[in-house]
Amino acid sequence: MTLNDNQLIRYSRNILLSDIDIVGQEKLLSSSAMVIGLGGLGSPVASYLAASGVGRLVISDFDSVHISNLQRQTIFSSKNIGENKAVAAKKRLLEINPQIEIISLSKLSSTEELREWISTVDIVADCTDNLGTRLVINDICFSEKTMLVSGAAIKMDGQLIVIDPTNPDGPCYRCLYNTDEDLEDDSCSDSGVLGPIVGAVGCLQATEILKILLSIGTSSAGKLITIDGRHLEWLKIDLPKNLKCKTCNQKND
Ligand SMILES: [Zn+2]
Repeated sequence: MTLNDNQLIRYSRNILLSDIDIVGQEKLLSSSAMVIGLGGLGSPVASYLAASGVGRLVISDFDSVHISNLQRQTIFSSKNIGENKAVAAKKRLLEINPQIEIISLSKLSSTEELREWISTVDIVADCTDNLGTRLVINDICFSEKTMLVSGAAIKMDGQLIVIDPTNPDGPCYRCLYNTDEDLEDDSCSDSGVLGPIVGAVGCLQATEILKILLSIGTSSAGKLITIDGRHLEWLKIDLPKNLKCKTCNQKND
């Protein structure tokens, strides 16, 4: 792929970075990512990946835009209320960057269909809002050996987890939880969330995805990053591998 004059200007601020340059930009345009969930996390993730020139984006959300989403889901506007999020987001993303391919999924009939889509991309951003779905995505990414950048936010707290399924010694998302127990699911609709906190986590997800696609700096794979928004304090720790984890413990295969 050779960049044309229009692309050289559009992506000039990327290209000026020595970590990206023209070669990196060409690589981004040849890369693909799936953004699952187009809420407060997915809004900045999808927007920045599209704007940065990731060449093929698969975006997925089954819900419709509700007026209560607009406090933080910045990819949407009041005119989108009632529209499916994947359909509305695709229109906005193509306004930002009409030169990339965007596939919007407003419905998935099965876990197998989700697996098929995940198998077509280089990396997955989990921007969903419930633990059950997160664990399904984690398990599929692990078996497909697809990098996973998972974000979450509630109230004024956020977290980011990066999973590299190609590292046999690395943890997965399920390692965080005792998976056979009932999991309490705290939701934004019950507890509230500060818009910029969920946006900040989404921006970090997008940053990490671009870093991974371009092999920039140090990967955060196997790390858990937590953000305490009330005091604006960050913590980055190793996520320990749970040797009883049914997803990533090779002995259970
Ligand atoms: Zn695990």
